[in-house]
Amino acid sequence: MKNVKLHDKEFNLFIKAADIDKAIENMATQINNDLNNEKPLFLSILNGSFMFTSDLLKQITIPGTEVSFVKLASYAGVNSTGKVKELIGLNQDITGKTVVILEDMIDSGQSMSYMIGLLKAKNPRQILLAAMLYKPKALTCEVKVDYCGIELENDFVVGRGLDYDGLGRNYPDLYILSEK
Ligand code: 5GP
Ligand code: MG
Repeated sequence: MKNVKLHDKEFNLFIKAADIDKAIENMATQINNDLNNEKPLFLSILNGSFMFTSDLLKQITIPGTEVSFVKLASYAGVNSTGKVKELIGLNQDITGKTVVILEDMIDSGQSMSYMIGLLKAKNPRQILLAAMLYKPKALTCEVKVDYCGIELENDFVVGRGLDYDGLGRNYPDLYILSEK
C-alpha cells in the first residue's frame, strides 16, 4: 500500500519492510557479538515493541537468553503533581543481570529515561538500550542508545508496532504522516 488512512489522517509509505528487516538483522548481529557471554534478559516495552521484539529475538543466538514484557502504566497521583508512572509486568529478579531494553522508538527520551531510573534501582549488572527507531534531534534528556536500527528526523510515523490512536500497529512497512 502506498497510502493509508487512519482515523482522520493520511499516511504515506516511508520505509519498506525489507529495509527495516535489514536494520534489525544488523542489530542482532551486533548484540550476538557483544553479549555472547552474558545470558542477557531482553525487556520488551509494550505495546509498541511487540513486532520489533519478535523480529529481533528470532535472530538472537546467545545461550541463556531470556525475554520479558513490561509496560509503563500511568495513573493519577494522589497529590496535585499529576501523573505517576509505574513499571508493571516485571516479576523476576534482575539483580546482577545484563538487561537489554527493547523499545520501538526513542523520541524525547523522557519515557526511557524514567524507565532506566526504575530499572537501575533494582541493581542489574548493566542496562543496554536497543531502539528500532530513534529521532536524535528530538531528544530532550540524556539517553544513550546502544543499538539503533534506523535514525529518523522529527516526523510522526506508524506501522511496525507503532500506532496512531490505536491503529496502524500491524503494518510491516513504516508510514509517515502526510504533509497535506
Ligand atoms: P519519548 O518519551 O521518547 O518522547 O516517547 C517515546 C514513545 O512515544 C515511543 O515509545 C512511542 O510509543 C511514542 N512515539 C514517539 N514518536 C512516535 C512516532 O513517530 N509515531 C508513533 N506512533 N509513536 C511515537
Ligand atoms: Mg513505546
